[in-house]
Amino acid sequence: MSPRNRPEENGWIEVITGCMFSGKTEELLRRVRRAELAGHEVKLFKPAVDDRYGETEIGSHNGNQRTAEVVESAEELDSEAYVVGVDEANFFDEQLVDKVQSLAERGHRVIVSGIDSTFRGEPFPPLPQLMAQAEFVDKLNAVCVKCGEPATRNQRLVDGEPAHIDDPTVVVGADEKYEARCRSCFKIRTD
Ligand SMILES: [Zn+2]
Repeated sequence: MSPRNRPEENGWIEVITGCMFSGKTEELLRRVRRAELAGHEVKLFKPAVDDRYGETEIGSHNGNQRTAEVVESAEELDSEAYVVGVDEANFFDEQLVDKVQSLAERGHRVIVSGIDSTFRGEPFPPLPQLMAQAEFVDKLNAVCVKCGEPATRNQRLVDGEPAHIDDPTVVVGADEKYEARCRSCFKIRTD
């Protein structure tokens, strides 16, 4: 299969990463809009993080929104569209790396957006692996809610207190809150 509407032979991978609240999805959608203005066909995907499948809206509540197909695993990422976008890529497992590589090798422009570190401040697979394979990487900052400096970390709060280091990495639907924080204001409990 070769992608339709392909302007040139080479595919490539673009990674948009950073912490929560850094505008990654907005940046993904900005690139998508520009590609469409150039007449390129675009297909967007998002992982299923709960029981909702089918299609969903991604993007800001008050502005640019786009429809994405919800998929259960990276295996399902396939499209004839020249531009393939993947939002919330950190919810996929490491199969995503091979899948994205094969799309790029078949001539697709693949744009992947997702957070690169866990609430423990550690690399969050598969984003670091994707960053190593990508042609283009942009790491966006948020604004630290504590001090206003550039924020790069995902502060997890459970009942208003920093989460414990032994908490699981991904808890969907738990009663918790995240904030963007800088290196100095980032806290994790280890006691
Ligand atoms: Zn700070």
